[in-house]
Amino acid sequence: FELRNEDLRDLKELGAGNGGSVKMVEHVPSKTIMAKKIVLIDAKPAIRKQILRELQILHDCRSPYIISFFGAFIADPNICICMEFADKGSLDGVYKKIGPVDGEVVGRVALCVLEGLTYLYDVHRIIHRDIKPCNILLFSTGKIKICDFGVSGELINSIADTFVGTSTYMSPERIQGAAYTVKSDVWSLGISLIELALGRFPFSDSDDLSDDSLDDDDDFSDIHEMEMQRLREEEEDEERATAWNNAQKEAQRQRQNQKSKGVSLQGGGMTMSILELLQHIVNEPAPRLTWGSGGEGREEFGGDAVAFVDSCLLKDPDARLTPGELLTLPWMDQIRESTFDLEAWANSF
Ligand code: ATP
Ligand code: MG
Repeated sequence: FELRNEDLRDLKELGAGNGGSVKMVEHVPSKTIMAKKIVLIDAKPAIRKQILRELQILHDCRSPYIISFFGAFIADPNICICMEFADKGSLDGVYKKIGPVDGEVVGRVALCVLEGLTYLYDVHRIIHRDIKPCNILLFSTGKIKICDFGVSGELINSIADTFVGTSTYMSPERIQGAAYTVKSDVWSLGISLIELALGRFPFSDSDDLSDDSLDDDDDFSDIHEMEMQRLREEEEDEERATAWNNAQKEAQRQRQNQKSKGVSLQGGGMTMSILELLQHIVNEPAPRLTWGSGGEGREEFGGDAVAFVDSCLLKDPDARLTPGELLTLPWMDQIRESTFDLEAWANSF
């Protein structure tokens, strides 16, 4: 059926991210519950139409591990994307509610996300670009699916021009200006798995970082601002004068002026702590599944699980495994054979 905004009845606000907000709605004629993502696009009508055309690929993305798509339309000045509603919400909400997530569940998340990524890439040559707990959704049936992948280049550009987004799941090579590959998604998955296992973002507790602003969304947005500056520069001249380099120079200059941490940098609105986080990701050893959880880590994460996450978080993208390779690791066999009842788990909180 053709989706029209007039046929949608708002039921509930589900949340807002950097690119827009999401509402639970009912498609009245078909009595279908949907999630409607509203993205404010500051672009010309021609660009909006182009985005809408590109989004049509979503109709062909059919996998048990991908949120299904009902349709998209323009409701000036917004673009609305209607998708399957996940009744248990996103995994960031889950761990914020119940705390550190069980090893069996973390393993199941890894398996489902990898199946989803493999499908997107093998069938459609789509790289997700935004793997993180808030883009992994849970159903009361125990199903786990991914959403919000970068299907429309034009939409990615438009959001980039208008909004600032979280980029702390960014791989070291991305921070340093390399292009997205499917291995960048693998890094983001590794960070996300540790986040679920710890019940908090893995970098926020590092003693190398000032902790005054890492939980603050405003600061995360600064990373994006920096990333955008990098993209703009990349467009303007082919030189590798990345925002990263500039930011480092700027930071050095600022450090000479002022010793204290967390000081705002002029111009770009960056704070030292964010720069330090990026530097940390690039320069320090990657976090591990056992890292920060109080020494030895939790029993449920055996050697296979730790080795799996280590393979996601190899800093050299060439050495890092692909989704397909990760699916062959022993932890994934273990999870496939497990009799853990995810449906019961999803209904237990
Ligand atoms: P970002 O904008 O950085 O990707 P985000 O994913 O949290 O962050 P949105 O994509 O706007 O932001 O989503 C906002 C919230 O709405 C999500 O965190 C999630 O909890 C909820 N949500 C999104 N899509 C669905 C869906 N299909 N079903 C149920 N809840 C959803
Ligand atoms: Mg999202």
